[in-house]
Amino acid sequence: MALNTSLVQLNTFSKSLSAKLKKIGLFSVQNLLFYLPFRYEDYSKVLTIANLTPGEQVTIKAQISAIAVKRGWKYSKMFTEAIAEDETGKIKLMWFGQPFIAKVLKMGDVAYFSGIVKDGKLGLNMVNPVYEKDTPPSPPLLRGGKQNDTLVKVGNRIHTARIVPIYHTTEKLTQKQLRYLISQVIGLATEIKEWLPEEFLESADLVPLSEAIRGIHFPEDETDLVQAQKRLKFGEIFILQLRAEMIRQSLKRANAPIISFQEKAVKEFVAKLPFELTAPQKVASWEILKDLNKNEPMNRLLEGDVGSGKTVVAGLALYNTVLNGYQGVIMAPTEILARQHFESLKQILGDNVSLALLTRSQFTVYNLQFTKNFQFSNDKLSKQKIVELIKNGEIDVVVGTHSLLSDDVQFKHLGLAVVDEQHRFGVEQRKILREKAGGGRLNPHFLSMTATPIPRSFALLLYGDLDLSIINQLPVGRKPIKTRVVEPYNRQKAYEFIKEQVKLGRQVFVICPLIESSVIPTESRDEWSLPAGEAGDPSTSLRYARDDKSDEKKTVMSEYKKLSEEIFPDLKVAYLHGKLPARGGSALGGKPSKESVMEAFRNGETNILVSTSVIEVGVNIPNASVMMIEGAERFGLAQLHQFRGRVGRAEHQSYCLLFSNTENEKALARLEFFQNNIDGFKVAEYDLETRGPGEVYGTAQSGLGNFKLATLKDIKLIKLARDLVRDIDFNQYPIFKEKVKEWEKGVHLE
Ligand code: ADP
Ligand code: MG
Repeated sequence: MALNTSLVQLNTFSKSLSAKLKKIGLFSVQNLLFYLPFRYEDYSKVLTIANLTPGEQVTIKAQISAIAVKRGWKYSKMFTEAIAEDETGKIKLMWFGQPFIAKVLKMGDVAYFSGIVKDGKLGLNMVNPVYEKDTPPSPPLLRGGKQNDTLVKVGNRIHTARIVPIYHTTEKLTQKQLRYLISQVIGLATEIKEWLPEEFLESADLVPLSEAIRGIHFPEDETDLVQAQKRLKFGEIFILQLRAEMIRQSLKRANAPIISFQEKAVKEFVAKLPFELTAPQKVASWEILKDLNKNEPMNRLLEGDVGSGKTVVAGLALYNTVLNGYQGVIMAPTEILARQHFESLKQILGDNVSLALLTRSQFTVYNLQFTKNFQFSNDKLSKQKIVELIKNGEIDVVVGTHSLLSDDVQFKHLGLAVVDEQHRFGVEQRKILREKAGGGRLNPHFLSMTATPIPRSFALLLYGDLDLSIINQLPVGRKPIKTRVVEPYNRQKAYEFIKEQVKLGRQVFVICPLIESSVIPTESRDEWSLPAGEAGDPSTSLRYARDDKSDEKKTVMSEYKKLSEEIFPDLKVAYLHGKLPARGGSALGGKPSKESVMEAFRNGETNILVSTSVIEVGVNIPNASVMMIEGAERFGLAQLHQFRGRVGRAEHQSYCLLFSNTENEKALARLEFFQNNIDGFKVAEYDLETRGPGEVYGTAQSGLGNFKLATLKDIKLIKLARDLVRDIDFNQYPIFKEKVKEWEKGVHLE
């Protein structure tokens, strides 16, 4: 038997068992060893019967003196009752729903029983205790295999009288079966190779991997378990840190243009702004300007809650870049946002900076007349011509979507690249931009901006290579947005409220989870429905189906129809979703496009905009004061926070109204937390705790999909790992490069 021995080769394997194991991804001995418990029961306290106290979780060793199957008087269900004795006393044992027990445990059998002691009418008892007969270890599993001495080391008992591992399992594969199998191969843990060099084990005070694997399954005691967990968590964290360090070092080696601080002009720029920069905006700007002034590429993440004013900070950096004779680019995730950045940069960059907007379907330039070789009128430029102007260096700042990366755009000398509403520049994006940058072998400086507040521990873990600037304060004069979960019977009141707001001149967003009528077929709706208040977290589509039945469909098209025809016939209502064409048409006159709808809303020509989540990130409509969200439980809190951030962007008191028909308690608790917390960082932390990083940031994005044990709470280990990888010489440790590659492929087998 070896690590790569296939499980079907083991003696006791029936076909059906190996099919079940396959279901949970277990094919080989190695798979079994790395199939980690997700929790433990502590049955390590072994007591005699006379010493038991009610409420305690314990193990007893006792002999069965009577056992019988009985019929309960209440539900006439069968149960097994037994009396067990040791030299100090007797105890009653009962099992429900396990009719086979009387066949396994016979009178006279000596066994261990683990569970919680209860105080019954007729003395102490235990309900559904885990039992394990006192027999010698079973013979080896594999044909011709040798006796497994680790089992002896773990004290023979695997289900009782110890800290017992609990695994995720699948239908008809019991904890005991799985635990038994793992106990049969655990001796092979000694063959697992350690990949962490000795000196790292030492400085982080870690046990070797093989020890950790043994200890994570069958710990001798609490300390042993903690040691095992520490080693395994560290391994996971360390690989992420190595990866970040590799990126950091390769960037450090690269050269970037030195973009010096044009103090006088930048000060004038700031003075001309219609507002005073907040203190954290000033600090962030200063940090960025300092980075630009170095000959290694900046690699910075600018984090700031929605509405905290990141755009102007980016604008300032771009301006300083242009003053140095370099080009800048800013990329947004959607066309709507690219357009918006274009419009605001037009305002803040002033008359001396030429700008181009270039997305798949939109292209235009601004201020071109101030460039040297102006010979065409702005609005007659073809896309191709704009691309040419960029290549010749006649456009100072290019605004676009990520499609800029795939288009044949080429810069003359790109100095600064900004990406908005993304957690970071990916390795791949950086490579592409470097190739497009022009200017010889110089790398551009990189600035990522995000409004998804990432807790520091998380940023440290994943973005150890990034420098972080945080804007943690909103501009003065903003009134906190009033958030309310509205009871269904108050819907009418909410509509009245919206009417009042519109009368005051304000505008309103209505967000719906879907575009058109539900994807769930009507005829099978009952099958999809779930009982109210069901525990667990049913998938959102299931949840929606149930709501769907009890209320009208919340889709953009149905809500648009209802609001424009029945509720607000006197107001101007428009709709927006991702499937609309990018441009052309008009918001109210049929065939609307994303551009025409946003334009009309921005100009105040429409009062109410019914939209899907396309409106989610970044959209800036200072006059909007109400954000109404239908089917609110269908969105993650981070996303709801983004929606909420679409209002309250000016001096008007703003409101976020959440509608939901869910009775799911978890979902309601989430919404209530959201209602009571306006701080984006708090919301993000809560979201991370309740849903996990994979859900919040996307599994791939978060990189935590590969984590089995480590969590964001392991901040000490995260810091330790980061300190240990700093300035490491990768040539000295080829294994580290391999590990990172493996991780990137998502293999991660340790
Ligand atoms: P976000 O950080 O969410 O991208 P924006 O950059 O879109 O936020 O800014 C939101 C709004 O706040 C814009 O209308 C912007 O002009 C305004 N703003 C930015 N900084 C300030 C400030 N210091 N004082 C007042 N308003 C500001
Ligand atoms: Mg923004």
